[in-house]
Amino acid sequence: MVLKESFSKIEWGLAGLVLTSPLALRFAQYLEHQPTLCPLQRFAGVPCPSCGGTRAAFYLWGADPIQALKSNAGVTLLIVTLAGLFAAGKLNVFAESNAHFSDTHLASRRVAR
Ligand SMILES: [Zn+2]
Repeated sequence: MVLKESFSKIEWGLAGLVLTSPLALRFAQYLEHQPTLCPLQRFAGVPCPSCGGTRAAFYLWGADPIQALKSNAGVTLLIVTLAGLFAAGKLNVFAESNAHFSDTHLASRRVAR
């Protein structure tokens, strides 16, 4: 077996997600038996739209999409949508935040003046 000499950030990230997946699932199951931190749920007894979102995220990370949907369908669909956009290259979270200082942009500003 030949190992690649260098891995990209995305490959390291995916490897980390897969390797820590059993821990994420265990943590989601642990959260099922903890009291809620949501103020609305605690004082009014009514769940807010994001209630169960943390468990949903950890169930997804732990590769249990059914439990994720049962915990909070909205958060589950949001995460799946964002992951799909990222996979399709429509959402680049690794883009430089100071891109407006790039050489090409500065050159275009010089031309505009
Ligand atoms: Zn809540």
